Amino acid sequence: MKTTEKKCPICNGKKEQGKVTFTVDLGTNLIVIRDTPATVCSVCGEEWIGDEVAENIEAVVSEAKMKNRMIEVVNFSLEQKNNYTNNNFKEF
Ligand SMILES: [Zn+2]
Repeated sequence: MKTTEKKCPICNGKKEQGKVTFTVDLGTNLIVIRDTPATVCSVCGEEWIGDEVAENIEAVVSEAKMKNRMIEVVNFSLEQKNNYTNNNFKEF
């Protein structure tokens, strides 16, 4: 999925850069990621997440799974910093 189009494919509204609260429901765990950079439609509110951001979300989700908390609320920008130090063992 491309996020580079300037117009919303749903309502043809204008896309704008913004931050959203991204929620991942795993059934047993709920992960809430605040301040996630995203493209948001100014008309219908549809959200798009870039590839790089999606990768970071995956890292946050797998970390939250390991902690096994029912609800994990994280701040995207803070979590990104932490990943630089915690990611060593994930390198292939
Ligand atoms: Zn729209």
